[in-house]
Amino acid sequence: MNTLKKSIITSILFFCTLNSVQTWADTSQKEEASFQIWLDNFKVNASAQGISDETLNRAFKGITLNEKVLELDRRQPEFSSTFWQYFNRAVTEWRVKKGQELLQKNQALLTEVTKKYGVPERILVAFWGMETNYGSYTGNTPTIQALATLAYDPRRRTFFSHELISALKVIEKGYVTPTKMQGSWAGAVGQCQFMPSNYLRYAVDGDGDGKKDLWHSQADIFHSMGNFLQQLGWEKEVNWGREVKLPKHFNLAMADGKQQRSLDEWRKLGIKLADGREIPHSEMPIQAALLLPYDYRGPAFLVYHNFFVIKKWNNSTNYALAVGHLADRLIGRAPLSKKQPKNDKAMTREQVKELQERLTVEGYNVGKPDGVAGSKTRTGLRAYQAKKGLPIDGYPSVRMLTILQQNQH
Ligand code: CA
Repeated sequence: MNTLKKSIITSILFFCTLNSVQTWADTSQKEEASFQIWLDNFKVNASAQGISDETLNRAFKGITLNEKVLELDRRQPEFSSTFWQYFNRAVTEWRVKKGQELLQKNQALLTEVTKKYGVPERILVAFWGMETNYGSYTGNTPTIQALATLAYDPRRRTFFSHELISALKVIEKGYVTPTKMQGSWAGAVGQCQFMPSNYLRYAVDGDGDGKKDLWHSQADIFHSMGNFLQQLGWEKEVNWGREVKLPKHFNLAMADGKQQRSLDEWRKLGIKLADGREIPHSEMPIQAALLLPYDYRGPAFLVYHNFFVIKKWNNSTNYALAVGHLADRLIGRAPLSKKQPKNDKAMTREQVKELQERLTVEGYNVGKPDGVAGSKTRTGLRAYQAKKGLPIDGYPSVRMLTILQQNQH
C-alpha cells in the first residue's frame, strides 16, 4: 500500500473514532444534565421526608452520575456458575482456617452476642467471611453516588430511592461521614454489607460509644448481625440443616427443597447422615426440606427453618448452603462427602436459553426463554425427567441439554 493511501485510511479511521468519541461525549453530557435535574427533584423530596439541608449539601456535594455503576447493574454474565464452582470459591481452606482463628480471637464478644440474640457464634463468623472475607474487603464505591445513580436509573427507582433516603438518614445520625460511606457498587456497606435501610433498622451500638459503626467496631458489627438474624426469625438452638445420604432408588421428586416433612418421616424414608449413620432422634419435632443443589450425583441436604432465614439475608440457595457449611467447618465438622466432577462445566446463557426453548417445545411452561434458569425452568425440567424416566434432579446442565438435543432432532 502506498503512503498516500495509508494516510487517507488513517485519516478516515481517525475521523470515525473522533466522531464516535464526540457522540459518546454528547450522550454522556446529556445524561449528566438529566441526572442533575433528577437530583434537584430528589433533594426536594428528601427534604420533605425530614432530611436536613446541611446533610443534603454535605452528601450531594459535587456528585455526578457513576457510569460504571450503571454498567455493572446492566451487566449480564455470560456464564452462570455451577453449584460446585460457586461453593468451592466460597468455602476455601483459607476461609475455614482464617474463620477458626477469628472465632477464637473474638470468643468473649461472640459469646456475649450469641447469648443476647440466640444466633450461634460460628454462624456470625461464617456470614462475616462470606460477605467481606472477614472484613478485609468492604468495597470502595462511594455509597451516596452509587445509590443516587441507581435511583436515577428507571429500572429499580423505587427500591433505590428508598435506600438512598435511608443512607442520608444514616449520615444525618452521624454514624458515618459521606466521604467515609463506601461499599459495594449496589449500595451495601460495612463488614456485614448491610443495605442502608437494614443499617437504619437493625444496626446496634454494641460497644456503647453512641455510634453504630459497621466498618470499624467489631462489637457494633457482631451485635448488628445478631440482631438482624434474630429479627429475620432465627430459631435458637437449632442448626440450619445438614448433609445427608439418600438410599438407592430414592424418589428424587421429593428433593425439591420445598416439601416439608419431620426429621422422623425423612428417617423412615431411609435417609441417613452423610457418613452413613442413622439420623439421631431429636426431642424437638424439626421440620425439614430435602434439597439437591447439584444434579443427582451431588450432595443432598436436609434444610431446616434457619436455612430459610439465611436466604432472607441473601435469596440464593448456594449462598445459604455456603454460609451453613462454612459455619460447620469452623467448628471442625467434616467437608462435604461429594466432590466436584471433572466434567463440571458452567452453561452459557445461550445454552440455558436453548434448554428452555427445547423444554417449551416438549410442552412444559418454563416462562419466556431468557437464558436464566429459575424455578420455572427447574420445575419444567423435573417434569421432563419424570416423563423420560431420568433421575428427577431438576438441575439445568450441559448434560441435560445434550439429552434434549438427542431426543429432538
Ligand atoms: Ca458503637
